[in-house]
Amino acid sequence: MTLLITGGAGYIGSHTVLELLSTGHDVLVLDNLSNSSRESLARVAALTGRTPGFVQGDVRDRTLLDRLFTQHDISGVVHFAGLKAVGESVREPLRYYDNNVTGTLTLCQAMMAADVHRLVFSSSATVYGDPASTPISEACPTGQPTNPYGRSKLMVEQILQDLAAADPRWSIALLRYFNPAGAHASGRIGEDPRGTPNNLLPYISQVAVGRLAQVSVFGGDYPTPDGTGIRDYIHVVDLALGHLAALDYLQRHPGLQAWNLGTGTGYSVLDMIHAFEAACGHAIAYTIAPRRAGDIAACWADPGKAARDLGWRAQRGLAQMMADTWRWQSGNPDGYPGD
Ligand code: NAD
Ligand code: UDP
Repeated sequence: MTLLITGGAGYIGSHTVLELLSTGHDVLVLDNLSNSSRESLARVAALTGRTPGFVQGDVRDRTLLDRLFTQHDISGVVHFAGLKAVGESVREPLRYYDNNVTGTLTLCQAMMAADVHRLVFSSSATVYGDPASTPISEACPTGQPTNPYGRSKLMVEQILQDLAAADPRWSIALLRYFNPAGAHASGRIGEDPRGTPNNLLPYISQVAVGRLAQVSVFGGDYPTPDGTGIRDYIHVVDLALGHLAALDYLQRHPGLQAWNLGTGTGYSVLDMIHAFEAACGHAIAYTIAPRRAGDIAACWADPGKAARDLGWRAQRGLAQMMADTWRWQSGNPDGYPGD
């Protein structure tokens, strides 16, 4: 039995493939490499001693999907493939809806035709919009995401809810990630954004390694203890292990469930910069800049439901997240070779 991992060459996907291979699962990755390179999977193979199957292709290609489901004994799908840059989604909404929504529709149609009904979907805390209170539990209503990327995630959640309601054979996990960060402890795989990073931690680490001059801290006047935005940063290996726990749960429970994957602790932008300074051993230049449009002041998870249902909890703290990021960034200052 094989698990199909769409987007498995990417940041979260490659860490999840590593954990799946390490625990004996057979894995087939489908990725169009639009935001990743094959090198991540070559390193996963070197680290685990097992080579994942790999097909370069698009999740919107129904003919290809049908062929994969026919040729392989696929028992479930983890669906990472999608586009994730908020600013780009504002400029290119059709590309985002096509990749993220049409991609998921095509995948589900192919799964249905192949009689495969176990699906883990990469959702996001962005579906909560600007939360009325924190911590955010799954009982909080979904809100109004402020950009096409966020809306594409909410649309897919709604489509999958309708699908599970219509057909009891489906078992579906909506995993609402908070802020993925960090890298594998080996320093061999990590986050390798193309172009200038949008997210905070890759930006900080590229300043630390000398690729960028200084961090712009978006907003110093939020109603938070130090005035900067607060988020729940979760180590990518903990996040990866959450997928294994969800896959296991789905084997035993039909229907659809949403789970927050976060730590339950929020850190400010300045907390993150100072923690990174401790990890890399030198100061990180930063300046306080205006707020970024669409940002909220504070957001962190109540991760209790995942602990109760899945027996999963984030184990890795801030210092480890920073040390692992620095090991990856300093060992691979320009990311994967050949990008
Ligand atoms: P990533 O860009 O590193 O990985 C996504 C992978 O999907 C890439 O390898 C890319 O080449 C591939 N891909 C994109 N469109 C495809 C398509 N149409 N067909 C086949 N492959 C395609 O991103 P990531 O950070 O690993 O995120 C994985 C998933 O988690 C995404 O769906 C993302 O929206 C979601 N997510 C990410 C974050 C985050 O902050 N990283 C937060 C919440 C949710
Ligand atoms: N942020 C920042 N400077 C940057 C990137 C991000 O100050 O260059 C802040 C952002 O305003 C937010 C936090 O860091 O408070 C996390 O932002 P990120 O884009 O990483 O994730 P988001 O929570 O927006 O998905």
